[in-house]
Amino acid sequence: MGLQRKYRCKNCGYSVLTAAGRARGFEAITDTFTCNCCHEIVDIVIGYVDPDQEIERFLKNEASSYLKCGSCGSQDIDLWNIENKLCPKCNSPIEIDSKAEFKYWD
Ligand SMILES: [Zn+2]
Ligand SMILES: [Zn+2]
Repeated sequence: MGLQRKYRCKNCGYSVLTAAGRARGFEAITDTFTCNCCHEIVDIVIGYVDPDQEIERFLKNEASSYLKCGSCGSQDIDLWNIENKLCPKCNSPIEIDSKAEFKYWD
């Protein structure tokens, strides 16, 4: 089951619900990207789990050629650096919002 949590930037107020890195649900596998076009953090499906065989199938390896930002459709995306967790709007570190709700996406 995949879990998304709320992150918030104290500098500019940007907030986002994200799994913050690779996550596996019952069917889908997602990873977290930043879009260079609309400057959003987006969780994008990168593969699927085959429920019969418990196999993870990834769509392809060359991420940039087929993955799209779910917000604006741009393919100009990079993996979000989950070590730094920088805000895509202002480049300040963003923090987990412990008071906010979280949700299971799958
Ligand atoms: Zn910010
Ligand atoms: Zn975008």
